[in-house]
Amino acid sequence: MSANPSITLIYSDEFLLHDTGWGHPERPDRLRAIVAALQSAPFAERLVWQSPQAVSEQTDPIDSLTAAIERAHDRTYIQQVRELANRGGGQLDMDTPVSPRSYEVARLAVQAWLDGMEQAIATGQQVFVAARPPGHHALRHRGMGFCLFANAAIAAFHALDRPEIQRVAIVDWDVHHGNGTEAIVKDCPEIAYCSIHQMPAYPGTGRPREDDRDRHLLNLPVSPGATAADYRTAVEDSLLPFLRSFGPDLLIVSAGYDANQADPLSQVQLQPTDYGWLTQQLLNLTRSVVFGLEGGYDLESLAASVCETIAAFEPS
Ligand SMILES: [Zn+2]
Repeated sequence: MSANPSITLIYSDEFLLHDTGWGHPERPDRLRAIVAALQSAPFAERLVWQSPQAVSEQTDPIDSLTAAIERAHDRTYIQQVRELANRGGGQLDMDTPVSPRSYEVARLAVQAWLDGMEQAIATGQQVFVAARPPGHHALRHRGMGFCLFANAAIAAFHALDRPEIQRVAIVDWDVHHGNGTEAIVKDCPEIAYCSIHQMPAYPGTGRPREDDRDRHLLNLPVSPGATAADYRTAVEDSLLPFLRSFGPDLLIVSAGYDANQADPLSQVQLQPTDYGWLTQQLLNLTRSVVFGLEGGYDLESLAASVCETIAAFEPS
C-alpha cells in the first residue's frame, strides 16, 4: 500500500478538436474547465495523466478499434460519420454536429474509454476518462443528443472478452436517460444498464422496465426538481440492491454532471458534493470502476463535480 497512491486520468488535448460550433453546450471549454480544476485540486500531485494512442483505421483486416466500435454500431453508420467529417462536417441531427476532425476524435474517445476499462480491470482501481464527444444517446444506427459512438456500451462489450470478467454493470448518472446504451446492451444479459434520470426530459425514454426477465435493466426516473434526498432514496432502495444482486465484476459509470442545480439542461437540484457521495456508494460495491464523462454543461459545477468524484476514489 502506498501512502500517496496515484490516480489514473485519461485525457487528450485532441478531444478539444471535436468542434460543435458557436453556442453549443457540449463544447471544448467543458474539458478545459475540468483540466484547470484538476490541476489545482488537492489531489493534483497524485494524478497520472495518460493519453490514449490513436489507432489508424485499416480495412483488411479491420483494426482492433474499428472492430470494437462495430460491436455497438452498424458499419453503414460508422461510414456515415466518417464521410460527413471528410466532407467538412455537417449535422447528424439538430443537436449533433460532426466537424472535420470529429470522426477521429470520436474514435479516440472510444479508445480512451477502452484504455480506462482495461486499467480498471488490471489494477482493480478507479480510473477517470475525461473525453468527448459523449456517447450514451448514440444508437446502433445513428448518432443523436451530442453523441457519436456509444463509448460505455463499447467498453462493456470489450470487457466481456476478458476471461476474468463475467458480468459488467453500466451505471448512468447523467441526468438524461442513456437511450442508446440501453438499446445496444438490452439483449446482452451479461451487461446490466442502470440509469437515474429526470423524467420528463430528453430523449423521452427511460420508463421503468417491466419486461426485463433477465433483471439486467433498471430505470430510475426522478421528477424535475428532484433533490439529493430523492437520489439517496433511489440509490439506497433500488440501485444498490439491484447491483448487489447482479454482481458485476466491473462497473462502468456514464458520468454525466448535468443533474447539478446550476446546469442549464435539467431541473434536478444536485450539488457537486453529491457526486462524491454517489461515487462512494458505488465503490462500496467494487473497486474496479471506470468513470467516463458524458454530459454536464455548467462549467463551474461540472469541473467541481469531477473533482468530487475523483476525491472520493479509494486509496490503494
Ligand atoms: Zn445529459
